[in-house]
Amino acid sequence: MPELPEVEAAARVARRAVVGRTIDRVVIGHPSIARRWSVSDRRRCHGRRIVALTRRGKSQLLHLDDGGTLVVHFRLDGDWVVDRAGDALPPFARFAIRCTDGRRLVLVDPRALSTVTHHPAAAPPTFALGPEADDPTLTATGLRARLVGRRTSIKSALLDQRILAGLGNIYAAEALWRARLDPRRPAGGLEASELARLLRGIRAALADGVAHLGRYRTGGRTVAWRVYDRAGAPCRRCRTPIATLSQGGRTTYWCPGCQR
Ligand SMILES: [Zn+2]
Repeated sequence: MPELPEVEAAARVARRAVVGRTIDRVVIGHPSIARRWSVSDRRRCHGRRIVALTRRGKSQLLHLDDGGTLVVHFRLDGDWVVDRAGDALPPFARFAIRCTDGRRLVLVDPRALSTVTHHPAAAPPTFALGPEADDPTLTATGLRARLVGRRTSIKSALLDQRILAGLGNIYAAEALWRARLDPRRPAGGLEASELARLLRGIRAALADGVAHLGRYRTGGRTVAWRVYDRAGAPCRRCRTPIATLSQGGRTTYWCPGCQR
């Protein structure tokens, strides 16, 4: 499941590829996407210039010059490929934007779970999401207000996109390890100093993810996780073997030695 850094990295690729360009036509290559598109949705995109591309949680928003918006969500496996209109479509192409200058932005997705929707200016998309996990204006006090009274574990709370948008299983674990917090702690019971630590942990984990993904996409190394996917390996801080537990049906990786 792509999380905020992966979606941000993908958004950068798409931004470079199509912002400022004009849509010649949209190509819909899978029924799961086609059923959300009317003929008029398609027609309204043709000839529109893409003026900006933003991210909200794990969604990418392509803003058109008539005030319309395309909302793309990769779900589990989506990704972008940039090619030329005359090329054969890549395997698992589900949706494509062909620009008037011949550039093409293709959504590829082996599992075909990605979604793309068009929202005219009169009916802009709405999102039931909390603030962005990397929002620089978010404070420990603000985070505390969103968690107050919640008895769910802090790990599960971090995965709830209505509380905080953008974190998934990997970066929630990484952030809690960096903050030295036990993932089982009740979300509403964390003290201000712990929430300040958590906020720093979230920002550091996400920044690290974005930096490494940038390199990964240009052929560099992949991300070295601090705790995720390291069951049994020594903690990078205290050498205690990393343990796992199941929370809300997801595997949590954590260090019983230094996460309290
Ligand atoms: Zn440790």
